[in-house]
Amino acid sequence: TDVRENLTWELLGDATRELAERVAEDGYEPDIILSIARGGVFAAGALAYALDVKNLHLVNVEFYTGVGTTLEMPIMLAPVPNIIDFTDKKVLVADDVADTGKTLKLVRDFCEGAVADVRCAVIYEKPQSSVKCEYVWKYTEDWINFPWSVLPPVVQREGQILDA
Ligand code: 5GP
Repeated sequence: TDVRENLTWELLGDATRELAERVAEDGYEPDIILSIARGGVFAAGALAYALDVKNLHLVNVEFYTGVGTTLEMPIMLAPVPNIIDFTDKKVLVADDVADTGKTLKLVRDFCEGAVADVRCAVIYEKPQSSVKCEYVWKYTEDWINFPWSVLPPVVQREGQILDA
């Protein structure tokens, strides 16, 4: 059977609000929210407002090289944030889903030891994820439809240079 978890634009609002409440109730007060583009920017923006954090940063992680080939491991695209700026900061990494956990592991390892504290917040976490996020809205084993990627792009673009 083809079980799907369906996140609508409307439900995203409630989900991110509840996720923010979990962070706040835990007493974590991040100085910086680091969103993982592209899928993590929606949750990250909502968390930044709900947690009253003005320092919203972004790291772009892709599994693809831009010539249609899939890498075995995710890669950070340029420009990579300057970690020196975060040395004394408490960082909350935000993404849409921890599936294999490889994307979050890349970003968490990038921050680990270089910042004051790093924690992860995701809308969804799957049981196989190698990273166990501190803050999760919902656990699921199903494929998730996200509102931003459930429809095809309105234009078709090929051969993009991803670090352009
Ligand atoms: P990872 O396997 O590194 O934890 O997840 C990498 C990325 O794959 C996620 O940020 C997300 O963009 C995509 N992904 C993983 N699982 C799902 C899913 O169930 N649905 C959708 N739409 N994307 C997913």
